[in-house]
Amino acid sequence: MKIIDGKAVAESIKSEIAQKVAQRIKQGKKKPHLAAVLVGNDGASETYVKSKVKNCEKVGFDSTLLHFEESISEEELLKEIKKLNNNSAINGFIVQLPLPKHIDEQKIIQAILPEKDVDGFHPVNVGKMVLEIPSLLPATPYGITLLLKHYNIPTEGKNCVVIGRSHIVGTPMSILMSRNTYPGNATVTLAHSRTKNLKEICRQADILIAAVGKAKLITEDMIKDGAVVIDVGIHRIKDDSKKSGYRLVGDVDFENVAQKCSYITPVPGGVGPMTITALLQNTLTACEMQEK
Ligand code: NAP
Repeated sequence: MKIIDGKAVAESIKSEIAQKVAQRIKQGKKKPHLAAVLVGNDGASETYVKSKVKNCEKVGFDSTLLHFEESISEEELLKEIKKLNNNSAINGFIVQLPLPKHIDEQKIIQAILPEKDVDGFHPVNVGKMVLEIPSLLPATPYGITLLLKHYNIPTEGKNCVVIGRSHIVGTPMSILMSRNTYPGNATVTLAHSRTKNLKEICRQADILIAAVGKAKLITEDMIKDGAVVIDVGIHRIKDDSKKSGYRLVGDVDFENVAQKCSYITPVPGGVGPMTITALLQNTLTACEMQEK
């Protein structure tokens, strides 16, 4: 069994991005610039956004954090999105989700210029992904494809089961795994909360990707011997032995499942670091595309 070291892969891709930025500067080109929009004071969202901004600095990007009050209206937020769309100094931006209930997330996502949509959530980018036209891919699924590529994990002709059909993880992941390319060419099953016989379906999986949002839902008896298991879930569970009082676990019962796998991602240190790396890669791609 091999542990997929997302942290190490992320560091290596980030150092490649940093080299490309250094090269750009030598050639007299500008640094890629990522902006992040944060609304309200949700602790987890704040942590994610700050980490994204910090990672920009690490690879030599410019970054801007726009933090708005929870009470900002949809109309005002749309105006801010318009400003970012029109600001030629900014190559890409993200709007951290979830947004407060009075703001329609789809309306906000659709207001982002597809060329600057480095989260890859805009319908134009989703459509391009489906049609296999080069585009900005959703960060978490894109990060997972980078992991599979890094470890040369065969995907062609494999049975791939994706659990979870969210628009940001499960659904795009299932599309990427079924595309006619590598990683891809898998026979994909997309499972969700209405799926019957989840255990039997999972046991058929050569590649199992769990994006369910339920701590340790995936247990050893659901795993085929030698399967590749990718765990997207992140959950805090109480642990008094830790200074923080909690530890992180995934959707997969790692300790018991790991013994049956050929490859498995840990939580933390698996998919998580790759999401930010994919976002940085998208920002560099957006910057290069805007120069063409
Ligand atoms: P989500 O929007 O809550 O979607 C969860 C999906 O799982 C839904 O499609 C749901 O089905 C399905 N589901 C729920 N219970 C199920 C069950 N018992 N059996 C089968 N399917 C079930 O979650 P998400 O945004 O995709 O995130 C999933 C997890 O990944 C969360 O823990 C989140 O924190 C984590 N995450 C991690 C990263 C990262 O960078 N590592 C990034 C994004 C998300 P229905 O559609 O039928 O409701």
